[in-house]
Amino acid sequence: MIKYGLLCAHDHEFEAWFRSADDFDQQNARKLVSCPHCGSADVRKALMAPAVSTSRMKQQIALALSEQQKNAMEQLKALARQVRENADYVGDKFAEEARKIHFGETEARGIYGEATPDEARSLAEDGIEFMPLPILPEDTN
Ligand SMILES: [Zn+2]
Repeated sequence: MIKYGLLCAHDHEFEAWFRSADDFDQQNARKLVSCPHCGSADVRKALMAPAVSTSRMKQQIALALSEQQKNAMEQLKALARQVRENADYVGDKFAEEARKIHFGETEARGIYGEATPDEARSLAEDGIEFMPLPILPEDTN
């Protein structure tokens, strides 16, 4: 499903859902799309990005709507902040360092950094505990 912001000949704004971009074009060519305000079938797409309905989209909406999820989000942010303040950043050496710490080859301490999906899987297989840090919008600066 795809949602379009639409404008009629009288510049009334409204939104409507279509199965696809083609679906809108076909319905509009046959004058099947009409303005709910004045009934005009002279309808065009407003200049806005269409919102695509996906499960990902629904999750984002749920996060914004549920107080409980907002709290969870806040806790994740706080946790991520705490880790970053108290742990050593090891960059892409995360897997290597985590393994050394796990096997007592280097000083035990909190670290964080980047790991590839393969490295993360291999760490988990070795029974090394770690957790993915959420990447939050405010982190991108
Ligand atoms: Zn209208």
